[in-house]
Amino acid sequence: MSIIENLELTAKNDYCKTLKELTPAELHLCLGKAMMGEIADTWEKCQKKEASKRRAYYFSAEFLMGRMMYNNLYCMGILDTTKKLLKSKGIDINVFEDIDDAALGNGGLGRLAACFLDSAATQEVPLDGYGIRYKYGLFKQLIEDGYQVEIADNWQRFEDPWCIRREEDAVEVKFQDQTVKAVPYDMAVIGYGAKSINTLRLWQAEAVDEFDFLAFNASHYDEAVKAKNDAENISSVLYPNDGTHEGKLLRLKQQYFFCSASLQDIIKRYKAKYGNDFSKFSSHAAIQLNDTHPVISIPELIRLLGLEGIGFEEALDIAQKTFAYTNHTVLGEALEKWDKNLIREILPEILTIIERIAIHEYNDMHAKGVSDEQFAKKMAIIDGDLVHMARLACYVGSYVNGVAWIHTEILKDDVLKEWYELYPERFQNKTNGITQRRWLGLCNPELSDFITERVGDGWLKDLSVLKGLEKNIDAKTVRAFNTIKKKKKTQLANYIKDTEGVEIDPSFIFDIQVKRLHEYKRQLLNAFSIVMIYNKLKKGELKDWQPTAFIFGAKAAPGYARAKAIIKYINEVAKLVNNDPDTKDKLKVHFVQNYNVSYAEKIVVAADFSEQISTAGTEASGTGNMKFMLNGAVTLGTYDGANVEIAQQAGIENEYIFGARVEEIDELKANKSYNPREVYDNNPEIKAVLDTLVDGTFSDGGAVGEGSFAELYTAILNGTAWHDPDHYFLLLDLQDYVDTKIKGNKDYQDRTAFGKKCLINIANAGMFSSDRTILEYAKDLWHVK
Ligand SMILES: *Cc1c(COP(=O)(O)O)cnc(C)c1O
Repeated sequence: MSIIENLELTAKNDYCKTLKELTPAELHLCLGKAMMGEIADTWEKCQKKEASKRRAYYFSAEFLMGRMMYNNLYCMGILDTTKKLLKSKGIDINVFEDIDDAALGNGGLGRLAACFLDSAATQEVPLDGYGIRYKYGLFKQLIEDGYQVEIADNWQRFEDPWCIRREEDAVEVKFQDQTVKAVPYDMAVIGYGAKSINTLRLWQAEAVDEFDFLAFNASHYDEAVKAKNDAENISSVLYPNDGTHEGKLLRLKQQYFFCSASLQDIIKRYKAKYGNDFSKFSSHAAIQLNDTHPVISIPELIRLLGLEGIGFEEALDIAQKTFAYTNHTVLGEALEKWDKNLIREILPEILTIIERIAIHEYNDMHAKGVSDEQFAKKMAIIDGDLVHMARLACYVGSYVNGVAWIHTEILKDDVLKEWYELYPERFQNKTNGITQRRWLGLCNPELSDFITERVGDGWLKDLSVLKGLEKNIDAKTVRAFNTIKKKKKTQLANYIKDTEGVEIDPSFIFDIQVKRLHEYKRQLLNAFSIVMIYNKLKKGELKDWQPTAFIFGAKAAPGYARAKAIIKYINEVAKLVNNDPDTKDKLKVHFVQNYNVSYAEKIVVAADFSEQISTAGTEASGTGNMKFMLNGAVTLGTYDGANVEIAQQAGIENEYIFGARVEEIDELKANKSYNPREVYDNNPEIKAVLDTLVDGTFSDGGAVGEGSFAELYTAILNGTAWHDPDHYFLLLDLQDYVDTKIKGNKDYQDRTAFGKKCLINIANAGMFSSDRTILEYAKDLWHVK
């Protein structure tokens, strides 16, 4: 039976409706289920296959999967036929745009996990994911009067066809004050061509027994309800607010919850095969810890092995061979440290094990000749009342990897220097990547056809094939590319018009910055540059300025006041330049609402310039930059993260690189010789820009000079109790940034030369496939390939 016949039958049986009568959510469910039926046999075979070989497991607090329908149709090779079949029934496949993204993540780290699963399935790497099935994903964002408004993301409100509940594999997870049931939901991860299917297992927290006898005894009814709510609370929201003690406990519970459940699951499967002989455990399982969130797995594995009769030393040795840790940040405040007392409160046994590891560590380091001073300052897993999760992972793990060349160098030279000196063989670089199936094949069929016509379709599974494009970039090819780019810009403009009611002229340059909102990513620097350009245009400078649309998309963490102020500031800038008759034909600023994976698929394809402007030394890698490159945008960026490798691959002359390099920033920090006030006093254009924060040009809703904009102003010029003035060096880079922007604007006008740069970027994007990355993990870290 074909999928469509199947579909009509389900519509009739389940809803007494014809296909056309189904709501988008119903149709999504019917089609999703029909597709799951189609792949069921292959999936089962894949889960049983190679049970005897080593498997890798990716532990991650986030999986930012995005919308599954189109991707799964695409990977199953039935997107076009399904589109036609639905059309023949009077249904536009775009109805699925109404279905929410699976947004079980915040940003890059979560999207990386999703790209890795896709690549592993496609490249037949035995990798399964483990995470949390949050009831509410990352909030949905509205922009109202220029402010961010957050709406709960109730993504499961219409059943989810992609996950199968596996009641039989439920396990219990115990805390000091509570025991909960962890129920797995398995999502099929369909490799390209649907020959290989891996599994993402997401745990949901529930009461151990919902129909506990207590519930039937009226006097205990409230207790039973409370137990149920307390249990479900654990997998309720992504990153609960950790400003309170309760919030911190909940976060720790979340981490332990999914780590414990996943490890119990892996041990159960191992025992089914090998019984109680744990000598082969580490050659059976490799566990990758995506950042520090799952590092609590280390003491938990030791605890679980203890229950199997394995002594501490042996269990520690097994853990050391099983785990590997990926570091995602060099920002000190983001390297997790847990208060001992907090761990003791809910996981006393785990704390005891961590303490044993810490003693073992001390003896080990002592024997290796590490001085007590260095140990105490830089390496102690337990430092006073704090447990350093990154240190725990460095000590008890087989590998530590950074996510871009420069990032790994910074880990080795600075952040984890002492660890590198002790265990140089453990340190590896694994530059991030993105899946070309979603980020080119699916989101840019026009460019995909253009590429396939020229180099064949081998790029779908081997992105290095793109290099072949470089051979003959003649004027005709460039014109064909430019036509496609214009088409994608028009599509985005139409989408923005339809969904947000804002008109953007597709003949404008599209200069785009989309990513989480954070000070280090410097969206404020971008906004400043626009104000500076606006001022120049008002003065009649920049005579041959090519009209430009600056498009932003970003969510600010709900408790991050400065990030929210920056969103408001950008929207104030938009209001000014979009409405000024002198500039509205030359500048357009738009902040899109609710930037997420599905929005990214529409945006990255439409950019001429990709803004990647973090302070050098702060962005670990970036993956947004790779999506833009692959779709033929040039990078306007600093020498930071994977931008370094992007410039290396495509040639620095084909990007717009500006600003201070890491060495320079390091030196300024070391000498304490950076003085933003000096820049402000000596550069009247910069002063004029900065003054807009306090002179009433823009409104932050508060009194002039007192509200959140004034706070930004003070943070830059005076600093605060917790940071130096302008700690992300906006003023240091602003002039060079604006100059570079103006140069890019001028270059753009030679459509052939500029289009050629874009094409060279595409041709050299091969190394940024997550296929390459995952094959490196498989070979160098997991030894499964
Ligand atoms: C790729 C992606 C990111 C990561 O972007 P960076 O620019 O690397 O920070 C964040 N959010 C979404 C929705 C993405 O698709």
